[in-house]
Amino acid sequence: MANKRQKLSIETSDPPMSSRLHPVVPSTEEHIRLREELSQLRAFTHRRPQPTTDWTIGREKYGCGFTTSWLFEEQFEEPSKEPFREPEAEPGWMDSKYDSTRGSPTEEHKKDPEWIDINLVKAWIDGCDTRHGAHCHPTRKDKITPCWLIDTGEACIVRPTTSVEYVALSYVWGSTASGLACQSNLKELQKPGSLLGPAMPRTIRDVISVLHLLDERYLWVDRLCIIQDDDKDKEKHINNMAAIYSNASMTLVVTTGDDADYGLRGISGITPAMNPQKRKSIWFPGATEHQLTRLVRVPTTKWYSRGWTLQEIVFSRRTLFFTETGVFWECHCHTWSEDTSERRLLWSNSKCNEKLADIFRDSYFPSWPNLHMYLQLVAAYNNRQLTFDDDILAAFAGITTSLNSTFQGGFLFGLPEVFLDVALLWRPMGPCRRRSSCEDEQKMRKKPGTAFPSWSWIGWQTEIDPQSWKCGYDYIKSTNVISWPGSKYNISLKAGSSWKLKPTVQWYVADGLSSPSRPVISDYKRHQRSRDTPAGWSRYSLPFEGLEEAEFVHLSDMKTRFRFPIPLPSDKDTSWPSIQEGPFLFCRTTRAYFLMEPLHPSRIVTSLFDENGMWAGVIRMQVEEEGFVRPEDEKDMTELPEPRKDGSGLQKEEFIAISEGSARNRWNEAGFLEEWSFAERPRKTPLYEFFNVLCITHQDGICYRKGVGRVLKNVWLSQNPETLEVTLG
Ligand SMILES: [Zn+2]
Repeated sequence: MANKRQKLSIETSDPPMSSRLHPVVPSTEEHIRLREELSQLRAFTHRRPQPTTDWTIGREKYGCGFTTSWLFEEQFEEPSKEPFREPEAEPGWMDSKYDSTRGSPTEEHKKDPEWIDINLVKAWIDGCDTRHGAHCHPTRKDKITPCWLIDTGEACIVRPTTSVEYVALSYVWGSTASGLACQSNLKELQKPGSLLGPAMPRTIRDVISVLHLLDERYLWVDRLCIIQDDDKDKEKHINNMAAIYSNASMTLVVTTGDDADYGLRGISGITPAMNPQKRKSIWFPGATEHQLTRLVRVPTTKWYSRGWTLQEIVFSRRTLFFTETGVFWECHCHTWSEDTSERRLLWSNSKCNEKLADIFRDSYFPSWPNLHMYLQLVAAYNNRQLTFDDDILAAFAGITTSLNSTFQGGFLFGLPEVFLDVALLWRPMGPCRRRSSCEDEQKMRKKPGTAFPSWSWIGWQTEIDPQSWKCGYDYIKSTNVISWPGSKYNISLKAGSSWKLKPTVQWYVADGLSSPSRPVISDYKRHQRSRDTPAGWSRYSLPFEGLEEAEFVHLSDMKTRFRFPIPLPSDKDTSWPSIQEGPFLFCRTTRAYFLMEPLHPSRIVTSLFDENGMWAGVIRMQVEEEGFVRPEDEKDMTELPEPRKDGSGLQKEEFIAISEGSARNRWNEAGFLEEWSFAERPRKTPLYEFFNVLCITHQDGICYRKGVGRVLKNVWLSQNPETLEVTLG
């Protein structure tokens, strides 16, 4: 997967193809990638849908086999600007001429292709400090200072005794094994100058020098500020990543290199020069600097592909990026880069980059469980690379730990317990790789490759379909809180889908096959039919076409309207069981067998038939990458196999029902249910009713998930499905 990303890298070692004054049109490959990503960006941020051809490419890539005009039936719109007041520019500042000693921009300033202008970077920090107010400088209730910090003046680690400002580092760890804080060298590392020796990774030494130039005294770096051979210290930090990064005055992101020995580029007198030959200017019609910065410079780096770096950027308030070809700044209000032509546009840009709601000023996430936002985070995380599969929970723990205070019951291997029936419907968008765990195999005496549960996305590296849980957003009526800090997408939740879910099984969870199990409380609709309004909630009645319609508001977020109150953790519920609870789910449900149409090499979605050749439903399989042909590698995409209804060539598979579902039989559900474009789907009844099913396989009495789909309710019932006890691993 990583190779595929690198193939599309924009920063290349080719000879320079253009000067920045005469930008070139990207190559075909770059063009396709940019077109896909920009069209996604536009689709998510514009009120009116864009033409659909770009999306066709985007979705075909994932092999779901959709025709895609329906992707835009959801109304996308920008979040409300209401809570924000743009910071007022000081007269004479935004338009003033650049003077590197004063730190103001000018149009005449020309970027040195080899060296970074540190004074310009100082001007960005100063500009944000003095002009962006609470947008970039929220007051946090849980202000903390880490136990250990690097004193960049003394080049050693120190234990701060009072609360101090510090910068956090996000970088590529890679295979670099030197420069780690251990119990044995703690004393040594506290000696002034100890971090400047050649044994220290180059990136760390360069960053210390840069911060010295920027007059930033304290730095937090994981490898030196967490005692690496102290498991308790490590666990404490892993669960507190949110606080460490959000309390930092800024995060310095080093995207250069594949490991910590590569160092920075372009710091005069300290590092090698930047390589202007690697720089290509990208021109794309209609793209803003912010979009290009996000889409071009960062996603092609190794840093961006790493699993650990997601939460580092999610929780950062302000970020200074050092790339192979330059430096740029991103905060709530602005993106600034050192390019003259870009800067002219930027300094006059008066709109904030992100339009987050007020509540982000005090907390990283809203005060209520936002399932939609959580899925976007999962989707952004799950296809990133981790050196060790065992880190899949730890590298996401900062996020789940933060969300534990709003998601009642916490998380079961990455699935929120209170929404478990919905969350089990996560579905892949492309090929899947089964994650295996070395550690847990021994602990649970399980066979290799089966330790992470197959029922959670944790068990599979894959692209997650961001529409997977649409049927679970019915509690939200309208909100400004639709995106996570740093997300490039803002999706409105206003779009209605009639896709509904009705739980049919009671789940139980246990750590082992013989361990005691406990019932899973998956009941976010607990208050939906109740006449009483729970404490903390207010009920409003709205006249609606002659009927009374109620909406609810919780006192912690007066701007979000709910269709019904949802369970919120009380202050007493300080922590939930570990997110690693499980990995076994038990339930009593029904089982049936259907014939599955062979998967086309580039598709993961296919039809199901009963033994009489009657179309029964649709299944999305978790297919390993091996043998998966991406559409861009295919010669001819038009030769799809014809459905074979006589039973020949169809494969018999086993399915269990996990919940019931329905949707109104109307065209605009096509964005969420892939069978909408299938000719066989029944269209005459007003309601499309089905069972949500898992395709399963057995091993040693345990069932493992192979796919997720829907089977028509009447067809399922006509099979006389047998009832059985299921253990899902
Ligand atoms: Zn700012």
